[in-house]
Amino acid sequence: MSEAIDYARAAATARGHISITGVTKYFGKHKALDEVSLELAPGSVTVILGPSGSGKSTLLRAINHLERVDEGFIQIDGDYIGYRQRGDRLYELKESAILRQRTEVGYVFQNFNLFPHLTVLENIIEAPIVHKKLTRPQAIERALELLDTVGLRHKADAWPRQLSGGQQQRIAIARALALNPRVMLFDEPTSALDPELVGEVLDVIRSLAQSGVTLVVVTHEIGFAREVADQIVFMVDGKIVEQGAARQVINAPQHPRTRRFLANVL
Ligand code: ADP
Ligand code: MG
Repeated sequence: MSEAIDYARAAATARGHISITGVTKYFGKHKALDEVSLELAPGSVTVILGPSGSGKSTLLRAINHLERVDEGFIQIDGDYIGYRQRGDRLYELKESAILRQRTEVGYVFQNFNLFPHLTVLENIIEAPIVHKKLTRPQAIERALELLDTVGLRHKADAWPRQLSGGQQQRIAIARALALNPRVMLFDEPTSALDPELVGEVLDVIRSLAQSGVTLVVVTHEIGFAREVADQIVFMVDGKIVEQGAARQVINAPQHPRTRRFLANVL
């Protein structure tokens, strides 16, 4: 009996289970994703590695339905991304429902993409207010907490252009967290930064690994991957060619492409 209650409680609190099943995506005749299947446990950290053009960004974008896939499907906590199920068929959601679904998924880009005409605070409170998840005072309170988390409360009234790249990226992370997402996707979050600013951004991502949000990070920072990732996925030509525990994949890669890639980045 108590086991059943524990299970029900765990199921109710476990957020951010991503299930990717047989996903294929074409751009014209080019197969950017080739039958990708992957399970990401709630609260887990997955690092995606692979050479340029292997489909890493396309996969992240598919998780958010920024790319519509041609075959297969993606679910977060059982919800079909971009679709609803009726009987045994899937129907594409309306744009408004897709936008609502996207509020459950935070997305952090290589180039920060802060709104240049808004202050740091306004950048963070915009989405929670627009999506009516919070009132303005609630949104401000939450934004200040998030600014504490990323160590930038003193920059609340600054403009994005007044900040370093590392600071802008930390603000972008706070902004993505403001909607209380189940999942955070990072697409090469440090590759546009000067080397001395990489660490401060990785520190923020590392601190999120303990927060219960499911993290998916595309990065070439192998040290970070080894230390923080629960699983590493290595992609080549739209396919997952190797996947496993971080230490296993980094210390004893099985696939020749993984070996060559790691030899070049380590
Ligand atoms: P990665 O992030 O691993 O570098 P991408 O997912 O960006 O790889 O790209 C995978 C492949 O799909 C590449 O060959 C790329 O040129 C192609 N591709 C990505 N986006 C588009 C697009 N919008 N139109 C056409 N081809 C694309
Ligand atoms: Mg990419």
